[in-house]
Amino acid sequence: MSDQGLARAVERMRGRGMGPEAITVFEHYYRQLEEGAQGTIPEDTIEPLRDIQGLGEVEVSDEDARRALSQTAVIKLNGGLGTSMGMSGAKSALEVKDGLTFLDIIAQQVLSLREQWGVELPLILMNSFRTSEQSLDILATYPDLPVDGLPLDFIQSAEPKLLADSLDPVDWPRDRELEWCPPGHGDIYVSLVTSGVLDSLLAKGIRYAFISNSDNLGATCDPDVAAWMVEHGLPFVAEVCTRTKSDRKGGHLATRRSDGRLILRDTAMVADGEERFFADTKRHDTFNANNIWVDLSVLRDRMAERAGFLGLPIIINRKTVDPADPTSPEVVQLESAMGAAIEVFEGSEALLVPRTRFRPVKTTNDLLVVRSDYFVLDESYHLLAVGEGPEPFVDLDSAYRLVDGFEKRFPFGVPSMVECTSLRVIGDPVFGRDVRCVGDVLVDGLRRVRDHAVLEGPVAGETSAEARPAARAQGVADLRTVDQHLRAILSTLEPAATASVPLTEALGLVVARDVRSRVSLPAFDNSSMDGYAVQARSLDGADATPVSLRIVGEVAAGVNPTFSVGPGEAARIMTGAPIPAGADAVIAVEDTDGAAEGSVLCRAVVAPGRYIRPRGEDVSEGAVVVSAGDVVGPRTIALLAACGHATVEVHRRPHVVILSTGAELVPPGEPLQPGQIHDSNSTMLWAAAISAGASAEIRGTVGDTDAELLAALDEVVAGADVVVTSGGVSMGAYDVVKSALADRGVDFVRVAMQPGKPQGFGYLTGPDGRRVPLFALPGNPVSSFVSFEVFVRPALRRLMRLTPEKRRVRSATLTSGLRSPEGRRQFGRAVVSRNSEGALMCTPVAGQGSHFVADLSRANALFIVPEETADLVAGERVDVIILDD
Ligand code: AMP
Ligand code: MG
Repeated sequence: MSDQGLARAVERMRGRGMGPEAITVFEHYYRQLEEGAQGTIPEDTIEPLRDIQGLGEVEVSDEDARRALSQTAVIKLNGGLGTSMGMSGAKSALEVKDGLTFLDIIAQQVLSLREQWGVELPLILMNSFRTSEQSLDILATYPDLPVDGLPLDFIQSAEPKLLADSLDPVDWPRDRELEWCPPGHGDIYVSLVTSGVLDSLLAKGIRYAFISNSDNLGATCDPDVAAWMVEHGLPFVAEVCTRTKSDRKGGHLATRRSDGRLILRDTAMVADGEERFFADTKRHDTFNANNIWVDLSVLRDRMAERAGFLGLPIIINRKTVDPADPTSPEVVQLESAMGAAIEVFEGSEALLVPRTRFRPVKTTNDLLVVRSDYFVLDESYHLLAVGEGPEPFVDLDSAYRLVDGFEKRFPFGVPSMVECTSLRVIGDPVFGRDVRCVGDVLVDGLRRVRDHAVLEGPVAGETSAEARPAARAQGVADLRTVDQHLRAILSTLEPAATASVPLTEALGLVVARDVRSRVSLPAFDNSSMDGYAVQARSLDGADATPVSLRIVGEVAAGVNPTFSVGPGEAARIMTGAPIPAGADAVIAVEDTDGAAEGSVLCRAVVAPGRYIRPRGEDVSEGAVVVSAGDVVGPRTIALLAACGHATVEVHRRPHVVILSTGAELVPPGEPLQPGQIHDSNSTMLWAAAISAGASAEIRGTVGDTDAELLAALDEVVAGADVVVTSGGVSMGAYDVVKSALADRGVDFVRVAMQPGKPQGFGYLTGPDGRRVPLFALPGNPVSSFVSFEVFVRPALRRLMRLTPEKRRVRSATLTSGLRSPEGRRQFGRAVVSRNSEGALMCTPVAGQGSHFVADLSRANALFIVPEETADLVAGERVDVIILDD
C-alpha cells in the first residue's frame, strides 16, 4: 500500500487516455481505500424508506407530459458484456425476443415514443470500449435514430484493478484487458462531462435524462415521470419497486439519520453481520430499480461546484482478476453506483413504480421468461405481461446457464409460459416444438421433452410402473416406498456449487461451463514423420529416377525454423517439428538414403501436404472443446491441457463426513472388551462415498447420548457438504440419532424395504446459514451399506450432476429359490456371473441377515425383489444391480 501504487495506477490510466476528471475520481477513491474506508453503511445510521409516492397516483395532463418529454433524453447503460451468460460481446446484442436484440427493441421503443408524442427524444448509449462498435452497428439499421448535434454513444471510463494486498495495479499478461474494470455505473456523471455530452444536451434544450440499464426492457421513458419531475422541480428521481422474498439482493434506498437525505445502500455496502437487516424484505420493503431521472442543469451546476466530481460513496468490490478463475489473484475494484447520486441532490425523491418497469435479463432463466409468450411486445415495443398471475419462477440446470447451451436445448423456441407458475429443470433435456408448461413444473431426469408436450407437476424420467406401488403403500401409516423416499430426498437437493478446479482435481466431475480452446491444435503445421521437408514439385519423377536434394537445415521438435526450403532443397525434420517456410510436403526417411548433411537422395514422389499435420486440423482456436454437462475423464483432461487450460469449471465434489454412533464401537485394530465390536461402518461408508465420486472423511464414533452427537455434528457441519451417520435410528432405548435430531429438522421414516427400514433425512444448518443434507442410516452393516447404495449414492450423483443417478438394473436367472417379505422391496446380496452360454446367473449368498458382513463382502451384486412378490423359484428372472462395475 503506497503512493507508488497510486502513481502506477494513474500512469496506466493516462497511458490509456483517461481524462483528468476520471483520474481525479479514481485518486479520491484510492485515498479512501488507503485510509481504511469500508464502504459500508451501518443499519443504525439509516431509517427505512416510508411513504413513497406511487407512479399510479401521479396525474399529468397530456400537454404537460409532451412538454416534459420534449426536454428529455434517454440514456442506456450499455457497457455490459454478458460474461455471466457466456457471451463475449455486448450483452444488448443478444436476440432477446421475437428475433430482436435488446438494442433493436430499445431503438423501436424510442422511435415510437417520438412518433406518439411528436418529440425529438434523443437516445444515447454509455458504452465501454468493448461494446461500442457492435452496438452502433445495430443502431445503424435505424437511420432516423440520430439527433442533430448529439452522438449515439459515449464511452465510460476504465480504471486498473488493484491487488488486494498491495493496492498495486495488477499485472495479468495472459489477458491484458482483465487488468481493467469500469468504475461502476456511477461513472456516468464524470463520463457525461468529459465526453461533452452533458453540454451538448443542455445546448439543445434537453434538461432531463432518463437513465437505465439496457438489459431492462421494462425501463421505457415514461412521460408521466418526466412531467412529475418538472411540476415539482425535482433534481433527481430514483424508481423503486416493491420487494418480494426473491429480491434479497440488489440495493435499496433509505433515509440517512444525520441529515434526512435519501441514500442508496448497495449489496456491497452492507456492514459485516448486518446481512439480516438487508435481507429483511419487510424492513426495507422496496429496492432500487436503477432507473433514474436527472435534472441535467442541476447536475452541471453540482459538477462545476465540486470540480468535476460528485464524491459518491465508494463501493469496494472484491473479486479475482480473472472472474472465471477463483485461483487467480484477489483484486479490489473501486466503484460507485449511479443511484448513489441521490444523496448529492437536495430534494431528491423516490418513486414507487410497478414491477413491470424492472425486467432485467441477468440469467438465462430471465431470458426464458422474457422470450416466452408470457410477455408480448405491443405496437410501441413495450413489454407487456400476458399472464394473469405473478411472473413464473424459472430455475434451469447448469447446462442451460450459458446462452449457447440454452439455445441448443430450445432449438424450436422456449415453452409456452402463460399458464405456468414455476419451471424447474434438472438434467439437460432438449425441448421439442410447442411445449406448454402449466402450473408448477419440475422436469427431472428426462433426456428430451417431446413435441407438443404439456408439462404439469413433476415430470420424472422414471417409468410410471415404479410409481404404482407407491400409491398402494400410502394406506400403510408412515411407511414410504423406496421411490417415494428417494424422490423426497432428491427433490430437495440443489446442485453443488461450481468452481474452477485444477485439472488434477477434476476427474469424474461434471463440467459446468463450455470450454473453448485457447489455441489451435496442432498449433502450427508440423511433420507426422521423420524425414525431409521439401517442395513436392522438387520430387517430380523421383519414383523413376531418384532425385538428389540439397540439405539446407534440420528441424527438431520444439525448434522454430528460421530458414526456408526452396526448389531442389530439403530440410531434415523430426516428427512433431514445425514445417519450415517454403516446404509443402515431407518425404519419409524410408524413401531416401537418410543422409544427415550435404544432399539427400529421394526415391519417391510426394503429393503436396503429404505427412503434414496442418495447423488447426484437430481443434481451431476458440472452438468449444468440452461442453457443460460433460464428465471429466482422463481423455477430457488431456484435451483441456492441450488447449491451454490448467483449470476447468465443474460442479464441486461434495465432501462427505461420516459419523458412526454406538457406545459398543471400537476403532478397527484396537482390542475388544466384553460387549464391544469393531466399527466397520465408518470405513465402509467412507469407501462407498469415495467410490460414488465424492470426497470423504471419517469423524470417528460417538457414544449414545444426545449431547455427544450434537457436539460432534456442530463440529463437523462447517466442513461438510453432506453428513452421513450410522446407527441409532430404530425404536430402541439408545437410538441417539433419532432422539437428538427428530425435532431438529431431520425426518425419521420407515421405508418399505428390507434391509434398511428405518431411515432419516433432513438438513443441518451450518454456522454460515448453509444447509447441509444429513442421512441417518441404520447401524447394521448390511442395512447401512444397502441404504447408502439406494439413497446416498444417487443423492451424491445428483449433487455432482452425474447421470444416470441410479445404477443400471439388469435381469438375471436365479440359481436357487428365495422368499421375500410382501409389501417391502428386498435388496438381497448375491453373486452374479455369466454361465457358459453367456447368460447372467444370480446366486443369493447364504447369509441374508443384515449382520452378515462376510457374505456381504462375498457378494458382487444386489438382487431386487419387488414389493408384491413373496417368493421366487430357481430358474425365474430377477432384477440385479452389479456393484463392482
Ligand atoms: P443400531 O442401529 O445403532 O441399533 O445398530 C444396529 C446393529 O448394528 C447393532 O448390532 C450395532 O452394534 C451394529 N452397529 C452399529 N454401528 C456399527 C458400526 N459402525 N460398525 C459395525 N456395526 C455397527
Ligand atoms: Mg446403536
